[in-house]
Amino acid sequence: LVRLGGKTILVSAAGQGIGRASAIACAREGAKVIAVDINEETLATLPGEQAGIEVRKLDVRDRSAIDALASELPDLDGLFNCAGFVHNGTVLDISEDDWAFSMDLNVTSMFRMTQAFLPGMLRRAEATGTCSILNMASMASSLKGFPMRTAYGTSKAAVIGLTKGVAADFVAKGLRCNSLCPGTVDTPSLRGRIASAADPVAAEKQFIARQPMGRLATVDDMTPMVVYLLSDESRFVSGQALLVDGGVTI
Ligand code: NAD
Repeated sequence: LVRLGGKTILVSAAGQGIGRASAIACAREGAKVIAVDINEETLATLPGEQAGIEVRKLDVRDRSAIDALASELPDLDGLFNCAGFVHNGTVLDISEDDWAFSMDLNVTSMFRMTQAFLPGMLRRAEATGTCSILNMASMASSLKGFPMRTAYGTSKAAVIGLTKGVAADFVAKGLRCNSLCPGTVDTPSLRGRIASAADPVAAEKQFIARQPMGRLATVDDMTPMVVYLLSDESRFVSGQALLVDGGVTI
């Protein structure tokens, strides 16, 4: 029995990491997946249309490209806004440009995607009774502070606020909107953060040490929650920030 049968779901940042694993997991559960990323090379390595995944290049910072894609695609049942970037530094290290970039990629992109795709999703909800938006936040947000994560945490706190606003406005129209708040997940960009540290071995130990289960999350520690929130199993859940953090915030 598939859990997302009959649903069309768009996943951003689907080229690698949590987005990629989520696109594959949603397709396995019977969804028709539209996998978008700015990086066409990684997108090309996803299983293709016979696996239920259609890939499209999209820069989620580009409003006209988003609007063009929304007018071309069928109405969506699910939207997973996953794209985001980790700025490393204290408040004293953040330039105006760094700040603007983090806010634009991590939050404003979700505002643009929601504006573009929500009307079609509401049409689908009128027909089916349900549709779901999932926004990628983090445990590093309004939920908890971490060293060197002020720009990142501010942007992810804003994702939680955006999520609650959208959820509140459309709760009676069949739209649910939630945010996912992972702990530290082993993905290509985390590997990049470790490799670019002054002492990569110590940096990896530190990332593991802040996870009380004694290990990093894998992307497949995240995908069950992603599938749940995009499926009708979560039909009574909206406006929530769901932590999948291996106990960091116990
Ligand atoms: P990642 O950072 O390794 O990959 C990010 C993907 O986003 C890449 O494929 C990249 O090409 C794509 N991307 C970047 N800019 C884009 C743009 N403008 N338009 C479209 N795509 C773009 O993947 P990840 O580590 O799984 O992170 C995915 C999300 O999960 C991010 O929002 C991140 O903040 C969040 N997150 C990650 C962790 C973690 O520990 N890895 C923890 C909590 C939250």
